[in-house]
Amino acid sequence: VIEIRDLHKSYGSLEVLKGVDITAPAGHVVSLIGSSGSGKSTLLRCANLLEDSQQGDVIFCGEAVTWKGTGLNRRPGDHAQMIRIRTNLSMVFQQFNLWAHMTILQNVMEAPVTVLKRPKAEVEGAARAYLDKVGIGDKCDAYPAQLSGGQQQRAAIARALCMEPKALLFDEPTSALDPELEQEVIRVIKDLAAEGRTMIIVTHDMRLAADVSDHVVFLHQGRIEEQGAPDALFANPTTERLRGFLSATV
Ligand code: ATP
Ligand code: MG
Repeated sequence: VIEIRDLHKSYGSLEVLKGVDITAPAGHVVSLIGSSGSGKSTLLRCANLLEDSQQGDVIFCGEAVTWKGTGLNRRPGDHAQMIRIRTNLSMVFQQFNLWAHMTILQNVMEAPVTVLKRPKAEVEGAARAYLDKVGIGDKCDAYPAQLSGGQQQRAAIARALCMEPKALLFDEPTSALDPELEQEVIRVIKDLAAEGRTMIIVTHDMRLAADVSDHVVFLHQGRIEEQGAPDALFANPTTERLRGFLSATV
C-alpha cells in the first residue's frame, strides 16, 4: 500500500533523511524505531504530505505522491491529491491534537463531514461505532479535557478510523501517557493489527514493536541502519548501533 523510495529531506543545511526506503504492503505493520532526532517523525510527515521532500518518492496505492521543492512551489492540482492522501493515510499524533472546543463525537465527525462531505447521519453512526470499538462509546458528549490521556488518544484513533483510511500512521501514540494508560491504547493498536490494518508505527516501546510488527526498521541519523522481522532483529541485532540502542532502551 505504501512505498517510500529513496526519500531525502533537509531543513536548510540540516539533512534529516538521507535516502530512506520503506514498504508497507497491505495488511502489514511496520514499526520504526531509533533514537531522538533520527528522523522518524519527519519520515511520517513526509509520507502524509505534512512536509515536502527534496528527493525520492512516496507511492501510495500505486499513485506517486511526492512533490519536490518548497511548499510555495506546489502545483495547484496537488491540493486534491493532498486531501486524498491525508484521508487514506490517517495519522495519530503523540499529543492527540483533539479540538478542545468540540465534544468527542464532534471531533470524530468533523473531517468526514467537512472535508469529505459525507452525510452527517451516516458519519454519526460510524463515529459512534468507532468510539464503541475503542472502548469510549460512553464519552461521546464529553469534551477532551474531561477525558484521561488514554481516552483522548483512543478518541484520536477513532477519529483517524472514521476517515475510513487505507492505512494508519502512528507517531509515538503512547509516549505522552502514564504506563497504566499506555496499555489501553496498546490494546486498541493490537486489535487493529489483528484486523489486518496497514500501519506504520513510530514507537519507543520495543515490546509493542515486537508484538505487532511484521517488519521493524531501525533508523539512525536519517538512514536505515538495520531492519528485519521483529524476532530476529530484537534477538540478534547485527549492528553495533542497534545493540547500543536496544541496551539503552530496556
Ligand atoms: P524524536 O524521537 O525525538 O521524536 P525523531 O526521530 O522523530 O525524534 P524528527 O522529529 O524527525 O526526529 O527530527 C529529525 C531532525 O530534524 C532533528 O534534528 C530535528 O531537530 C530536525 N527538525 C525536525 N523538524 C524540523 C523543522 N520543522 N525545522 C528544522 N528542523 C527540524
Ligand atoms: Mg518524533
